[in-house]
Amino acid sequence: MADMVATPLAAGLAQLESHLISELGADGVSTLIGTVVNPAGLIHAKTIPLRRMAAFADPGLGASPVWHVFAIDQIGIVTGESIGVVGDERIRIDLDGLRILGDGFAWAPASFFHQDGSPDPYCSRGVLSRIQARLAEAGIEALIGHEMEFVLVGPDGQPLTSHLWAQYGLAGILEYEGFVREVSDTASASGVAIEQFHPEYGANQFEISLAPREPVAAADQLILLRIIVGRAARRYGMRVSLSPVPFAGSVGSGAHQHFSLARGASPLFAGGEGPAGMTAEGASAVAGVLAGLRQAQGVLCGSILSGLRMQPGHWSGAYTCWGTENREAAIRFLSAGPGNPCGGNVEVKVIDPSANPYLASAAILGLALDGIDRALAVPEQLTVDPSTLSQTQRDEAGVGLLTQSQSEAINALDRSSLVRGLLGNAVVDAVVAVRRYEHDNYGDLSPDELAAKFRLAWSV
Ligand code: GLU
Ligand code: MG
Repeated sequence: MADMVATPLAAGLAQLESHLISELGADGVSTLIGTVVNPAGLIHAKTIPLRRMAAFADPGLGASPVWHVFAIDQIGIVTGESIGVVGDERIRIDLDGLRILGDGFAWAPASFFHQDGSPDPYCSRGVLSRIQARLAEAGIEALIGHEMEFVLVGPDGQPLTSHLWAQYGLAGILEYEGFVREVSDTASASGVAIEQFHPEYGANQFEISLAPREPVAAADQLILLRIIVGRAARRYGMRVSLSPVPFAGSVGSGAHQHFSLARGASPLFAGGEGPAGMTAEGASAVAGVLAGLRQAQGVLCGSILSGLRMQPGHWSGAYTCWGTENREAAIRFLSAGPGNPCGGNVEVKVIDPSANPYLASAAILGLALDGIDRALAVPEQLTVDPSTLSQTQRDEAGVGLLTQSQSEAINALDRSSLVRGLLGNAVVDAVVAVRRYEHDNYGDLSPDELAAKFRLAWSV
């Protein structure tokens, strides 16, 4: 202990932490949960008694590198040349993101580091932080607003009755009023900014939209919301399916992300001379996302279930085009105006809840920045449902369907020097590995079998 001379900074931090611990203790917190999300979209966690909070923040708690390659089937670990059973990482909670959950729990988002304190290239939260920093270096601030669609099911994943249910119907709210109220109350108490919460198109399917935040904070907020929704559902004897296709042949669940970009006080998606009021840079950002969509599909919606959702007529944005308020376009543009108080923004509809939301944000923002860097020209927008056009018309407009084949999506990602350049080889290799595992082991199952097997795979 003799060499432990506290620097003024460390002493100040220690004081802050002990102050935070006493405040949390006074608020009834006894246990702290820290979470990380892996390339397969699984949320992993460790808990500590409150007195250990400072150690969870720095140096962090030990975790094997195989956390990055756990598969969605509860058993698979896809080890390879670079990730194996040897080695140990540190997961560190970010105290700025700490929130009280209630019932003695607090939660904080965590990131992976090497034991020497350097960032781990496999850490999805770290990847998104770096993209956020690259945008900042380019003088651009990004905001992301997440949507969470989910289906309520029974404890072992069985469908719940839906005698009283209409698409977007009041009946759904009243059938589940205790659950709806509990989610709203807990979210408010935990600082999660719900913008709206409503029944969706499918039976027992709901959607919650979140207020825009800076990219890392926005993904953190989404993970916290998943925890809140999962806990509330349990209290009512239910579980939350976060599968892209909880029931085959039925409507899917998306995890759409809205993003906006600004240079200082000037938004890039409003007040410009470009299409739909975008600035030239805003148009190039949309062009960048559009150009990289097929290569990034494995990150945005690459699971074994994702292809079943990627169909025309499902509002999942299966067509590779953009259009103002077009729900069949992969990229729906929302114009600034009195009806959109958050301003002009771009909704990437293809993302689904099996994706790691940090990596999905990193991919779309990275592609947007690439479009801006290369001053890409945006194709004309499509303001009709692409299905109503003839094949020739779609070909002329350069509009196609995203693939429904998981192996095609994975191969496109694996080969993409663009996405590798944006996210780093480590994390792309890990996504490719866990998704290939799904295809190799379960690719022969029927849609019904797949939906049943993985209905609760991403649930918490
Ligand atoms: N559930 C649809 C999807 O899979 C989206 C419905 C909507 O546009 O809100 O993406
Ligand atoms: Mg929706």
